[in-house]
Amino acid sequence: MSNIVLKHVYKRYENGFEAVKDFDLEIEDNEFIIFVGPSGCGKSTTLRMIAGLEDITEGELLIDGVRMNEVEASDRDIAMVFQNYALYPHMSVRKNIGYSLKIHYEKKEEIERKVNEAAEILGLTEVLDRKPSQLSGGQKQRVAMGRAIVRKPKVFLMDEPLSNLDAKLRGQMRVEIARLYHQLNTTFIYVTHDQTEAMTLGTRIVVMKDGVVQQVDTPERLFRYPANQFVAGFIGTPPMNFLSGNVAFEDGALGIRLGEKKVALTVEKVRNMQNKDVVGKDVVVGVRPEHVHICAPEAGEACGTGTVDVYEMLGSEAIIYLNQDGTNEKLIVKTGTEQSFRPGDRVGYAFSLENIHVFDKVTGETITN
Ligand code: ATP
Repeated sequence: MSNIVLKHVYKRYENGFEAVKDFDLEIEDNEFIIFVGPSGCGKSTTLRMIAGLEDITEGELLIDGVRMNEVEASDRDIAMVFQNYALYPHMSVRKNIGYSLKIHYEKKEEIERKVNEAAEILGLTEVLDRKPSQLSGGQKQRVAMGRAIVRKPKVFLMDEPLSNLDAKLRGQMRVEIARLYHQLNTTFIYVTHDQTEAMTLGTRIVVMKDGVVQQVDTPERLFRYPANQFVAGFIGTPPMNFLSGNVAFEDGALGIRLGEKKVALTVEKVRNMQNKDVVGKDVVVGVRPEHVHICAPEAGEACGTGTVDVYEMLGSEAIIYLNQDGTNEKLIVKTGTEQSFRPGDRVGYAFSLENIHVFDKVTGETITN
């Protein structure tokens, strides 16, 4: 258990490239922190600076109040699990898991006990005497985790540990990692580009872009109150719809014009927009596919009409890709499967007003939070 603080941390590589800029975060004991973002956003670099595998150019890293910048990786009491399992091919699973204890001169019986305990937690008891080549991808990844668990580290770092696995196995291992976290009572920091892993595992998520932290929040808050258009578009599948609009003050109320249509705003959103000098501003309206409702094209409540371009039936839900009338902006709708559609069908749609987001077109910042 430990508390980790990154104070205004920067990473500049030798070629002058700034991979991480002003990373500032306090991680409490026993949190499951996720670093998420597109390829190249600096998440692995940040993790490697915490592990001690990469120097910190500027700023400070503290673990339990002690400055770590100059402390060797091996003395940081951190265990790291990588995407490539890096197992010793000639050693059995038992020896692979116990290796780090052996090189730290732990007693044979103690190693045996800890290896058995880790194998039990990870469901590896049956395969302890096999070699890595006789294991499935998921089992190999569990052995890699076993190696980290036996050391009882203060902090567990994981860099894309599931990205070598197929989709089904990834789903299973995700559940196992969640279980492991609840059993171990240790701080986890986990790097992924997969927003589903981020949302399902993290107690808090750090969303990064171009080396800069965009938002640090719980999964629920990231989803409901994205700080900007990037975060809004990155979190959620299918992604949020973005439509061009303009803030209007009409009939005594603030609302949004979307071409010919006017979208009313909830009292809360209007309150949040007050004092922000937004009237007449060009904005981007964000609506998640699950917050668009399909209705009959002639229904009075319809916010708009359109034509079905593609209909995807996914079992319990369906995704409709719509061509909106009067604009060339597409609209993605997530809906139930009570009614099915075909390309060319005419439909009406309405937005769930309490769930629309409005972003400044220039800065991308949310103006309705
Ligand atoms: P990915 O998911 O692709 O691993 P990431 O978010 O983990 O992406 P990093 O590996 O942290 O990204 O890399 C951040 C940026 O730093 C990238 O643009 C990368 O090209 C650059 N970078 C990484 N290592 C070096 C290096 N040794 N010298 C210069 N630039 C580097």
